[in-house]
Amino acid sequence: MKRCKRCILPVNFPHVTFDKEGVCNLCREYKGRDADKRLKKEYRDKFKRLIKGLAGKSEYDVLMCYSGGKDSTYTLDIFKNVYKLKVLAFTLDNGFFAERAYVNIRNAVEKLDVDHIFFKVRFELLKKIFKRAMRGESFYPKKTLERASTICTSCVGFVKYVSLKIAIEKDIPFIGFGWSPGQAPITSSVLKIEPLMIKSMEMALKGPMSKIAGKGIEPYFLNERHYSKRDFPIFIHPLAFLGYDEEKILKKIGKFGWKKPPEVDLNATNCLLNTLADEVHIAKYGFHPYVYEIAKFVREGYMTRREGLKHIPFEKDQKVIRMVKKRLGV
Ligand SMILES: [Zn+2]
Repeated sequence: MKRCKRCILPVNFPHVTFDKEGVCNLCREYKGRDADKRLKKEYRDKFKRLIKGLAGKSEYDVLMCYSGGKDSTYTLDIFKNVYKLKVLAFTLDNGFFAERAYVNIRNAVEKLDVDHIFFKVRFELLKKIFKRAMRGESFYPKKTLERASTICTSCVGFVKYVSLKIAIEKDIPFIGFGWSPGQAPITSSVLKIEPLMIKSMEMALKGPMSKIAGKGIEPYFLNERHYSKRDFPIFIHPLAFLGYDEEKILKKIGKFGWKKPPEVDLNATNCLLNTLADEVHIAKYGFHPYVYEIAKFVREGYMTRREGLKHIPFEKDQKVIRMVKKRLGV
């Protein structure tokens, strides 16, 4: 497959153009690491200013969306030990965590000495949504398909709105995420979103989900009582402005007893559903759902092009896929 000579975006990727030299428009538009450095400092300062004004006013300063994967484990430590915030970790269990992921979560929250809550979504309801996504149906806005599979977008949606709900109800000023610099840009790393904007984003997920699962999805989304609050939590993903070094991350979290679950693929460090989600996406759209993220990593120098290509294999582990399908009842 023809790909950008610099990053690894394939020619069939939506809305990407290539010049005569075979370089994509995103690589041409990239301003370089110096510009990134300035931007990172700007956002680090912004977060520090916000902490000054908002920390210490509630029981918790930050609700950390904690998947138990490597990046979020590392981020949990950053909030607690670098920024000295009072952290409540929150894990949304989609029913497909690798067994080792539960051990990793327990180890990390105990070692870091933070409070933690598990939120397990009703499995029958999740199954309905995952099964529809598995058929290759895309029911969310088209743009989401460029960044993630329909299955991943579903789970991330649950994480986002359940965490918002908890943070609003508990008056927690920040919601933390472990997005890597490939997954989310620096410019969104400290993000205050107006309730009206949240509402329209919410509808783009809730609308299609309720068509599949009916009123059963209500508990996972906001209602008027939440929207009547004036101050909404601020989203923070610090890895974008602090930098990202995989080796350093693995070394650090190893100290908390974190080990990569043996059955998950290269891009996931907790969820088994990922492999099937990738396979369905590749079959339908002809590109890997992680390619945008990995290409950004390569473009910005976090990974070599050769390493990047290793992360987007088209062949998937059928053993894991069979096991997941069995659990879904298909
Ligand atoms: Zn490129």
